[in-house]
Amino acid sequence: MRVVAFLAALFSFIAPMAQAASPGEEPAYSPAAFKAHVEFLADDLLEGRAIGTRGYELAARYVATRFDAAGLNPPAVGGRYQRVPLIGSRLSTTQPPKLVVGGREFVHRSDVLMNASVLEASQAVEADVVFAGYCIDKPDQGSDDYAGLDVKGKIVVCLHGFPKGMPSEIGAHLASRKTIMLQERGAIGLLSIETFQSAKAFPWSRALEEPDRPTSAWAQADGTAFREAPKVRVGAWMNAPAAEALFAGAPRTLADILAEADRDGGKPKGFALRPRVKFTRESQLTPFDSVNVLALLPGSDPALAGEVVLLMAHLDHIGMDPNRAGDKIRNGAIDNAAGVAVLLEVARAMAALPVKPKRPILFAAVTGEESGLLGSQYLARNPAVANATVVAVVALDMPILLYDFTDVIVFGAEQSTLGPIVARATQRAGIQSSPDPMPEQGVFTRSDHYSFVKEGVPGVFLVTGFANGGEKIFRDYFATHYHRPSDQIDLPFNWDAAVKFARLNDLIAREIANQPARPVWYRDSLFGTTYAPQAPKAAREAR
Ligand SMILES: [Zn+2]
Repeated sequence: MRVVAFLAALFSFIAPMAQAASPGEEPAYSPAAFKAHVEFLADDLLEGRAIGTRGYELAARYVATRFDAAGLNPPAVGGRYQRVPLIGSRLSTTQPPKLVVGGREFVHRSDVLMNASVLEASQAVEADVVFAGYCIDKPDQGSDDYAGLDVKGKIVVCLHGFPKGMPSEIGAHLASRKTIMLQERGAIGLLSIETFQSAKAFPWSRALEEPDRPTSAWAQADGTAFREAPKVRVGAWMNAPAAEALFAGAPRTLADILAEADRDGGKPKGFALRPRVKFTRESQLTPFDSVNVLALLPGSDPALAGEVVLLMAHLDHIGMDPNRAGDKIRNGAIDNAAGVAVLLEVARAMAALPVKPKRPILFAAVTGEESGLLGSQYLARNPAVANATVVAVVALDMPILLYDFTDVIVFGAEQSTLGPIVARATQRAGIQSSPDPMPEQGVFTRSDHYSFVKEGVPGVFLVTGFANGGEKIFRDYFATHYHRPSDQIDLPFNWDAAVKFARLNDLIAREIANQPARPVWYRDSLFGTTYAPQAPKAAREAR
């Protein structure tokens, strides 16, 4: 899973089947197969599978040969590997970036964090500053943060995240669109400041622990990097003590604002700030490329051949951490070798079914998720299957396969007719479905299904739930192992849970593929109205 938001926002079961299936009808899964995939993909020799590295390419070859072994052909367009052209950018080490607030200078990696620019090699940007609360421009969702403010040509200070109590999928989505909202209002920069909520979700010390990674974006046909909001030229993330400097002489103290923001529904109002802000940043831009690895299972109903169901897992992780003492390899066993293992086993099992699902199923191991969902975004915009469109997405990302989970959180279920389909599958599998227990994490926008949501395609993404001891294990994974070298094969994996998780996602994908009608957004879904305004919609089913 991506580390969100903070920096990215700137730019960037076998609970036995209800009826026992007769042999040959239901896919067979073996715990040992999952273990084998994770052992290989999370091996030290792959050095953490960072985008653009040999370790990633080796992982891609592995996935391709597993697809070959399953008898799954590549889709017709482009073949087994979809090449993704990219631009990588690193901050200059000789001229580190600086942020000056009033007269006070902040250096990168102290109280301020910055990314390299993928658009401009050399920048010196100076502007007035405006505070705009959470910076969300969505009056019909109760957030009208720019009302009465002029942010044109200015740098805008935003509270990180979204108002407490806003539904998690909507909040995560709106928070991820801040740069676009800023651009629409003519702003040129974003300073995102830490709140109590964001500090809880991802403490500043953890953010500092992440070494500078190159910023990456996929390259457009003209060779320039694709950015959703290219006119928002600069950005930084500040901790609360540093952000005090912005509020010198302001009508309200930052402490007061943060306290209001920490109350349910708290939406501090914006105002112009006194100090001017100056950014200087030198970035080194380099083109490179990476691959998505693809396999297609043709459907059994020729009339539905144009409606593809996509099962997708990101293959990349975040590579080595050169600054770390001892083990430097962040193997990403859970994040996301485990998800790829599930993808590979479901692909193998489905390919072996005597009766194939009606719609075709595209299996994709995608690149660059950790750099901002790049591979999935490229796949969403550059279809890989001839004469067909993706009609639904099931994403597999970071399943916490460390306990016998008995419930799942289904992100996206509330938005489209995928909800009842998933509900039937979970019920058949004997798994409960629970509401999001961690809205502050903004999970909905942090994985690859979201790239397709933004192209108007309904998607779901399952996370193992908090029941049956899950909460402690989940929280411990995030606090201790997530994006660290200890996310490796010696974690206490429960390979039976892998089987359970694969069965559930397999059931869901097949259920979608076998429905008479393709899934559609609900009429009142913000995602449907925003990203698929012309598409047919459905009324919510009565509960
Ligand atoms: Zn991750």
